[in-house]
Amino acid sequence: MPLRHVYRDRATDATLELEVQEVAKHYERGAVAALDGVTFNIESGEWVGIVGSSGAGKSTLLHLFAGLDVPTSGRILVRGQDLGRYHHLAAYRRTEVGLVFQLHNLLPHLDARRNVEIAMFGTGHTPGARRARSRELLGELGLAAQAHRKPPELSGGERQRVAIARALANRPRVLLADEPTGSLDPESVAMVLGIFERLHEDGTTIVMVTHDLEVASRAERVIELRAGRVVRDERSGVLTAQSDLPA
Ligand code: ADP
Repeated sequence: MPLRHVYRDRATDATLELEVQEVAKHYERGAVAALDGVTFNIESGEWVGIVGSSGAGKSTLLHLFAGLDVPTSGRILVRGQDLGRYHHLAAYRRTEVGLVFQLHNLLPHLDARRNVEIAMFGTGHTPGARRARSRELLGELGLAAQAHRKPPELSGGERQRVAIARALANRPRVLLADEPTGSLDPESVAMVLGIFERLHEDGTTIVMVTHDLEVASRAERVIELRAGRVVRDERSGVLTAQSDLPA
């Protein structure tokens, strides 16, 4: 089922989406280096899996991409613009990136349709347009029959698909997902990855943090972090030259 009619067609777009330049993120007055000098680019339309063991810096990196935090040093550029000097950060978060984060849970007292709709508040859409878009997305993600259910009445896999629908509500260029298949049953994992595959085909840039190597292998590129540094960067099985790879 193509998603083309609900997402922008960016198939011919080959620009650099994200540039990570010597990015470090320190906590506790420098005692913790969550990221320790990371440099790489993500092209528009790429599907990137970020892997690494717990504490490697994956979530920190995703939060920086989302504009939820700022690097201690170094820069992140979005389409050539320094995110640290971005004047429209709220709009960036709302419309340019879609977030599927474990921290951003669904609101339990709102049904699935309204949980998707609230992502569109403040974007100038009429209530009718928001409702129509929400219905359309939930339908695309196989949740038409669950639109009226609240999160506690949905399975884990259904909740995750609602979260994805919400992330896609404003047609983001980039989908940022933190452990999108974590704690899901195999059928739901396959469903979520199928959705990502369709989004990828339609040109959406996907950055997906996972500690599941099988899930990561579905991405076209895998970047591995270890102790805040890039130790592997592979595109379709080819190791990319990286200054910070181990000798
Ligand atoms: P991952 O997502 O790979 O598990 P994180 O990016 O969450 O790793 O964390 C990287 C390191 O930074 C860990 O050592 C973690 O404890 C630390 N860290 C993350 N956030 C904070 C914070 N707000 N304050 C202090 N340390 C943090």
